[in-house]
Amino acid sequence: MRTGQLEVQPHCPTCKKLLDGFTAIDHDKKPKAGDVTICAYCNEVLQFTDDMSLKLASPGVIEECGLLEISRGQRQAREFKERVDMRRMIKESIGST
Ligand SMILES: [Zn+2]
Repeated sequence: MRTGQLEVQPHCPTCKKLLDGFTAIDHDKKPKAGDVTICAYCNEVLQFTDDMSLKLASPGVIEECGLLEISRGQRQAREFKERVDMRRMIKESIGST
């Protein structure tokens, strides 16, 4: 499990947000085609396509990952987003003074 920045920044098919970060569910490497990821904004379970855009993960794919792993990933994605929001808030408050 790892979070980080994406080089290619796909849009979430559910909430349409530009995803510049990721949470890898089943390994510690950068995401590759076919990997399952969680949208940090809407917590949707997504899968990278061959061209590294995103589609909804199919129930079979989710099952393969394991629901425990998925829910752990969703929790991590939430925490990741909270950290990003926090940093942005701090940056904005510094910038406004
Ligand atoms: Zn989303």
